[in-house]
Amino acid sequence: MKIFINEIPQQGLVREADLDPKKLNLDTCQINFSSPVHVKCSATRIDRDVFLKCEITAMTRQICSCCLKEFDIKLTKKIDLYYESKGQISVELDDDLKDEIMVDYPMKVLCSGGCKGLCPKCGKDLNEGECGCPK
Ligand SMILES: [Zn+2]
Ligand SMILES: [Zn+2]
Repeated sequence: MKIFINEIPQQGLVREADLDPKKLNLDTCQINFSSPVHVKCSATRIDRDVFLKCEITAMTRQICSCCLKEFDIKLTKKIDLYYESKGQISVELDDDLKDEIMVDYPMKVLCSGGCKGLCPKCGKDLNEGECGCPK
């Protein structure tokens, strides 16, 4: 996501975009999304520098570390970014957005607080009922 410094008026500018997680290099075996990464930014110009207030929203695809069921968790994050223009005509947000998302990406999650997991003997999902194996 790119913001051109010249396009930011005195009163500021709001930009919204849906970014492809793959293009942000966020699509790895541990990080998965079931929606685009939605970013809403309010940009203000302070002389030639740019101050941004961004809101990130995306649905992450999770696998329960207990029963292996797939489910979605919404990730939301508000961040402030500040760029010195250093003579550039635009600022590129992608790397910073990526870092911020990586930091807050949920890891080792359970589908619910009371997930019973899988039976270690027969592999049945114990959330769906007892399997009958001897305890
Ligand atoms: Zn589970
Ligand atoms: Zn069993």
